[in-house]
Amino acid sequence: MARDAFITEAEIAGNESGPLADATVAVKDNISTQGVPTTCGSAMLEEYVPPYDATVVEHLLDAGATIVGKTNMDEFGMGTTTETSAFGPTENPAAPGHVPGGSSGGSAAAVADGEADLALGSDTGGSVRCPAAFCGVVGIKPTYGLVSRYGLVSYANSLEQIGPIAPTVEEAAELLDVIAGPDPNDATTRDEGADSEYAAAADGDVDGLEIGIPTELLDGAHEGVVETFWDAMDELEAQGASTHDVSLPSLEHAVEAYYVIAMSEASSNLARFDGVRYGQGGGFDGNWNETFARARRDGFGDEVVRRILLGTYALSAGYHEKYYDQAQAARAWVKQDFDEALDDADVLASPTMPIPPFELGESLDDPMTMYLADANTTPVNLADLPAISVPAGETDGLPVGLQLVGPAFGEETIVRAGSALA
Ligand code: GLN
Repeated sequence: MARDAFITEAEIAGNESGPLADATVAVKDNISTQGVPTTCGSAMLEEYVPPYDATVVEHLLDAGATIVGKTNMDEFGMGTTTETSAFGPTENPAAPGHVPGGSSGGSAAAVADGEADLALGSDTGGSVRCPAAFCGVVGIKPTYGLVSRYGLVSYANSLEQIGPIAPTVEEAAELLDVIAGPDPNDATTRDEGADSEYAAAADGDVDGLEIGIPTELLDGAHEGVVETFWDAMDELEAQGASTHDVSLPSLEHAVEAYYVIAMSEASSNLARFDGVRYGQGGGFDGNWNETFARARRDGFGDEVVRRILLGTYALSAGYHEKYYDQAQAARAWVKQDFDEALDDADVLASPTMPIPPFELGESLDDPMTMYLADANTTPVNLADLPAISVPAGETDGLPVGLQLVGPAFGEETIVRAGSALA
């Protein structure tokens, strides 16, 4: 079993000076690195070496960082445990025998184990926050449009953002300072947030902070996780914050809506992989349809195939209105519910994950259980909002994360609130 956080070790040194000149950084293997393999955890891209750097990688190198490796991940970002990787699973250094979470599990494990000072992950429905929570470190999912996705291999492009993973909130915020900002190569980036200073916001001052607690995100959660969550709320109240309950009825439909949208986008985004230039193509045998079909069946793992099939079904004539359009309507409702709740609160708090880390192998044959574990993280991607996961404590020796969600481009607020705990 692969226990390592890295798929490829590397040493790419950036400028000699800059805010990250002393930092080693691990980069998720779906973020393009020029001359260094970028596999997305898939046999389909095993031999793919990008001819250019992602914008975030350029920012890292300009800031002086040394990139030490590309990290293991669920194949194309599809998973919550890092076990769907074609290169085998990664073990959780903070909870031996357990998964590190996913899909950016290698990135969080590298940070938790001290193999890198900092790491980049990507978060489509929780893939930065879940592994941060399971490995006892900090992860930030930025507002949609704050960080360039140029050079990120798309899974579900309307939902995902690249985000930092670090041992402390201040270090995660320093990395966010480096990667945030508009990019002419990504038309979905925005100017908002350009004047923000995230690391400077990590001052731990929660005096007067109003925290809304969506009751739906505690329903059905593991008892020990809920207890740890309330301890963290007590701690923030002791430092001057206030809390109130809030209801977001749309959240009941969020995971379903997320999976319909994510799988639909995946079926379209992954259509480009034909196995011809790299991967397991096996050569042309006189029939292109059969050649592509074989390359795609051999090159993609079971979870990716499942999602391509379901996504194609949800988009097909006759079912489009029933599934895809309904999911988009639910997405709009979720967004509206969050906006209203954030009118009366500075941040919204919940456990990052409703459960402690799975044991290795435990959820592999049970996709529904794995999907439902994303109940607290996926709504935030549907609403395009920023969120941070900070360590809240442990239950039975297993790390528990606290999620704080802020208004659009309110990263300074979630960094300030999170830094009161970590
Ligand atoms: N677990 C979720 C999924 O499988 C989220 C993954 C992600 O954020 N990349 O889609």
